Amino acid sequence: MKRNTIYLPVFCIALCMILICMPVLAEGGGGGWGVGDGSGTGGGRNTDLTSIWTELSSIKFILGGIAALSGLILLKTIKINRNIRTLLMCAVFVLFGVLVIMHQPSPLRAVVDPVTALATGGAIALKKATMLAFIGGLSVIGAKLFCGWVCPFGALQEIVNRIPAPSGKKIKLPFKISNGIRISIFAISLVMVIATGRDLYTYYNILNPFELFDWHFELVLAVLVGAVLIASVFVYRPFCYLVCPVGLLTWLLEHVSIFRVRLDREKCNDCKKCILKSPCPAVKAIMDGDTLRPDCHACGICIDACPKDALEFGIWKKAKA
Ligand code: SF4
Ligand code: SF4
Repeated sequence: MKRNTIYLPVFCIALCMILICMPVLAEGGGGGWGVGDGSGTGGGRNTDLTSIWTELSSIKFILGGIAALSGLILLKTIKINRNIRTLLMCAVFVLFGVLVIMHQPSPLRAVVDPVTALATGGAIALKKATMLAFIGGLSVIGAKLFCGWVCPFGALQEIVNRIPAPSGKKIKLPFKISNGIRISIFAISLVMVIATGRDLYTYYNILNPFELFDWHFELVLAVLVGAVLIASVFVYRPFCYLVCPVGLLTWLLEHVSIFRVRLDREKCNDCKKCILKSPCPAVKAIMDGDTLRPDCHACGICIDACPKDALEFGIWKKAKA
């Protein structure tokens, strides 16, 4: 086994364990999120299993879990073409972006605030820790089940990506570059946190599209989100691949996901229709059997594109060479 094939799963498993422990380690108090945390005391390490369960049984986690599970069932049972996928993304956007609050705390904040707490020794609020564990748990069950089936801003970018580009051609960014940018933003921001003691969210706050779902319309943010949506016409999910720390986390976790897109080499005739018809940069890496793969948002388009049924969303095992 190559060295990086060992280190990556070991790192991801360690990450999973930290995420699973997050709600148990969380501090009560909620940190000014405007909603109770189930503890009632507002301080001290008072989180117990009841308050974690109360948090997880709230409507947003129940609906989010149902959406992700439905996505998993659909991927296993039907072929999802781009029209069906777009309709499903409209439903996700309306349900989690407009009707149900999937942004208190926002997924972005649920990732960056615990990182700040870990870097500075501060407390982690139960609501953020539970959201983080929810995102991590779904991502471990199936690759990017949160980003691909629950996140309203991911859904919005996918919907906008259906608008034809003026040139008639969509752009697939080289993953090494997009991921390099995403990692650099995270690493530089983290260094700034350690150097200045400021919150990691200070830096990500500049472009947190989830604020708009909360009707926080600031001009700079609205302009930046507008730019992301214009870019989405040309590039599949640019915010996810280039900026989002949730995308970075779930990309790491998808390397240990139980369910992933996998290839049956015996059925594949190498026609490459899956690569041509898919919007993402992940299919080629799946075809090449790469250990380090670009983000797969579990959309199912490549599975639908394959005329030989060589791709499926199944329990992961490495394809034979
Ligand atoms: S990467 Fe971020 S914006 Fe994209 S789907 Fe995931 S949480 Fe949403
Ligand atoms: S590899 Fe790409 S096309 Fe296939 S399910 Fe994942 S995101 Fe969709």
